[in-house]
Amino acid sequence: MKKYDLAIVGGGVLGTFHAYHAALLGLKVIVLEKDLFPMEASVRNFGQVVPSGFSVGRWHHYGRYSTQLYKSFQEKIDIGIRNNGSTYIASTQDELDLLHELKTNFEAADYHSVILSKEELLAKYPSVDSKYALGALSFPQEVSAESREMIHSLHAFLRETTTIEFSYATPVIGIEDKETEVELQTSNLGKILATKAIVCNGKDFRLLFPDLFSKSAIEVVKLGMMVTKPMPEVKLPGNILTGLTIRRYESFKALEGYKNLNWENVNQEALKYGIHILFKQRVDGSIVIGDSHLYADASQNEELGFDIDMSINHIILDEAKKILNLKNWDIQHYWNGYYSQMKGHEEIFDSQITPNIKVVTAIGGKGMTASAGFSKESIDNFFF
Ligand SMILES: Cc1cc2nc3c(=O)[nH]c(=O)nc-3n(C[C@H](O)[C@H](O)[C@H](O)COP(=O)(O)OP(=O)(O)OC[C@H]3O[C@@H](n4cnc5c(N)ncnc54)[C@H](O)[C@@H]3O)c2cc1C
Repeated sequence: MKKYDLAIVGGGVLGTFHAYHAALLGLKVIVLEKDLFPMEASVRNFGQVVPSGFSVGRWHHYGRYSTQLYKSFQEKIDIGIRNNGSTYIASTQDELDLLHELKTNFEAADYHSVILSKEELLAKYPSVDSKYALGALSFPQEVSAESREMIHSLHAFLRETTTIEFSYATPVIGIEDKETEVELQTSNLGKILATKAIVCNGKDFRLLFPDLFSKSAIEVVKLGMMVTKPMPEVKLPGNILTGLTIRRYESFKALEGYKNLNWENVNQEALKYGIHILFKQRVDGSIVIGDSHLYADASQNEELGFDIDMSINHIILDEAKKILNLKNWDIQHYWNGYYSQMKGHEEIFDSQITPNIKVVTAIGGKGMTASAGFSKESIDNFFF
């Protein structure tokens, strides 16, 4: 039987970048993905790669590393990465003050940003409502991904340029550390042998280690998302983030001025459903709009349900309409996305459960931004 140096369970962005970094070390790697193609968080997300959302430190560093890696891949093959920057729009003076403070903070870490006056912002984004916008902070170096396609293009690129093998429609239903090797039981290929294994199972907590996960501090988050019909005539380049995001992202929460933010004039229904308004225009001109957040423990995540809650989506749309002037708000799709994250202050579930098996999941809402950088360190720690 063929034996691998490393078997990765899960072909999402976290599993894929673990495989990539292991292959760079010359290891023989196989990725085992339960679905015919990845269809979970790594394809359902916004595709905003925003290191500016993290305070200077570990996760910001991973985000910067990931950005460079995405750019270097994109130079070789089109994986849907576009360098159009990220722009945080302030609608009130307290938000604008915080954008200035963030700029100063990042300058000390050599992370470049540009303040845009109201006029500059409206010239760059004519569809932004002049009644909403007061000014903005832009990070021109940041990128966005075409999420629905990127992971597929990335797998195709890695199949061509590395020795990584990908096996789809291959659920791993058992895994055992036999000291000299790890035995992975699949539902369709029988046993796979590897010296080590890393489980990057996203939000699937029933197939492997159900007890471990049910006792963990992992929760599952359900997000509401939507996309308009294509509007190539609208120019909305890059990642657009707004006032509710300024209240939500870690980099802002860590600032001195965060406590001065006004919460009374904010839509309380939006806060109740964890709504913050983000936009990203896709290559075909359609605009992705989101998102809302509902939470359940890992052991009970089915309770989040599968229904698309239109009352929550209407709150998102009402807020979005305060920010953009679009002639047409026809929505072509609504969908839900789910990711796992840690409750409390831990930022990821990263646990070596036997000498040769490690579980890495619950990276939360930062996986598209930070997985590439985090995975490099994770592989180095596991093998050296
Ligand atoms: C709506 C939404 C918007 C988001 N927007 C952003 C954003 O703009 N920027 C950002 O940085 N992050 C964003 N995120 C977060 C990001 O998408 C996730 O952090 C990231 O995709 C998680 O990757 P993952 O590989 O851990 O999980 P997943 O993508 O869920 O992949 C896990 C994979 O493992 C497979 N699997 C599980 N169990 C098994 C098994 N036993 N055998 C075989 N295969 C198995 C699953 O089928 C799945 O394909 C968003 C997420 C959502 C849902």
